[in-house]
This record gives sequence, structure tokens and C-alpha cells, in this order.
Amino acid sequence: MNQLLLGPADLLSPDRARVTGRPLAHLRSIRHLAVGDCFAVGIIDGNQGQATVVSLADDHAELALDCQQPPPAPLPLTLILAMPRPKMLRRVIQTLVAMGVKELVLINSTKVEKSYWQTPRLGADSLAEQITLGLEQAKDTVWPRIQLRQRFKPFVEDELGTLAADSLKLIAHPGTSTPCPRALAQPATLCIGPEGGFTDYEVALIEAQGFTPVHLGPRILRVENAVPALLARLF
Ligand code: SAH
Repeated sequence: MNQLLLGPADLLSPDRARVTGRPLAHLRSIRHLAVGDCFAVGIIDGNQGQATVVSLADDHAELALDCQQPPPAPLPLTLILAMPRPKMLRRVIQTLVAMGVKELVLINSTKVEKSYWQTPRLGADSLAEQITLGLEQAKDTVWPRIQLRQRFKPFVEDELGTLAADSLKLIAHPGTSTPCPRALAQPATLCIGPEGGFTDYEVALIEAQGFTPVHLGPRILRVENAVPALLARLF
């Protein structure tokens, strides 16, 4: 953890916090912090800076906060991602959160197995844990919005156009003729398919909303690698 993330429940006032549970265990066992020590903190959806340990008890620590710096700028991107396998979901969410994605929509697709939607990793607590780890890794504080859409066609036909309005609309699809653009100077909406890829029918429906299929070269990457490769190339 490069920065401890504090939420509203941890704050006693804007410059005082009291931590218990996971953050306390981390401060004790990994950082071996003592009274007077300083470390990096951020406040969810707020500024970031330094915390100083004011007191340390068995079940809590009290921190004095000096948080003046704003978090890094978000990526100007809406990411539409076909629901990954549960094992991959954890890693992918942490990665995209660490890279600054603030708008994520997980969608269904023909090659997404129905059982993927049943995973406990989509539960609010589990998602919050992945988001926290990603933000702490990247030294960011801004909580992303994650939406779930289990019906592909209504999502694409009724929502995608509005969601993507005024942005460059791209669908990552191997084997197409247009290379993925680099270093964009404008917001983008990017669709990434499942492990088995989008079907031709799905690509056609997304294209009908003004999206251009783009490729990253002849090598087909796993979703967990395609996500950072695409984001790094676009921004
Ligand atoms: N089996 C599929 C590939 C799926 S890879 C096929 O052969 O077409 C999973 C997703 O990662 C793809 O849907 C795409 O969005 C993205 N991706 C992986 N490699 C890519 C590449 N070289 N170019 C563009 N997108 C890629």
C-alpha cells in the first residue's frame, strides 16, 4: 500500500482520524509504526497528504492529518468491459482503478459465461476492497463508478450512445484494419471484449452506435493485459 485510504467512517474531523481493523493491522504489522511516525494518506473523494500517529492502542490508532494535495487527474475514459472470469475480475479491477479509470461498465456478451455474474466478487464489499487496493496502489482518492449491465442489446441500443456522447468511440477488436490511436487529446469510450472476443453481431451493434473497431497489432492479448496495453496507448 503506497497510501492509506481513509473513508468518512475513519474521520473524526477534517484533520483527525481514528483507524481500526484492516488499516490498523497494516500500520502495525507491515509498517511497524510508532507514535510520531508519518505516512501517506488520502481521503476518499478528497485530498491527500501526510498522517502522523498521535496515539496507538490495541484496537485503534489516532492520526493527525495534513491533506492539502488534490489527487491525480482521472483518465478521460469510460471503459465498457465484457464481464471477465471471476479470478481475473479482481486483478482487472485493481489494475484499471490504479490506472485512473473512473467510469466502468461491466457488460454481458455471448461469450461471457452466465455463472460469471454469480461471483461473490461482484458484491459491494468485494468491489470496495478491490477499488481500495487500486486507489492505495496508485496514490489516488477518487472512487470510481462501476455499473453492471447484464443485457447486452438494450445496453448498447438504449444507453451506450448517450454514455459515449462527445467522446472518441472505440471498440478493441483484433483483426480489424484500423490501428488503435495513441496519446489522445480528447475523452474516449472504449469497449473491450471477453476472453472469447465479441461476436460479429455484437461488433456490428456497437459499430452502429458510432464506434470504430481498432487493433493493437497481430498479437491477441489476454483481457488482463489488453486493458493496460490499451489504456497506456490511448493516454
Ligand atoms: N478470442 C478472441 C480474442 C479475445 S481477446 C479473438 O480471437 O478475436 C479479449 C479482448 O481483448 C478482445 O475482445 C479485445 O477487446 C481485446 N484484445 C486483445 N488483443 C487485442 C488486439 N491485438 N487488438 C485489439 N484488441 C485486443
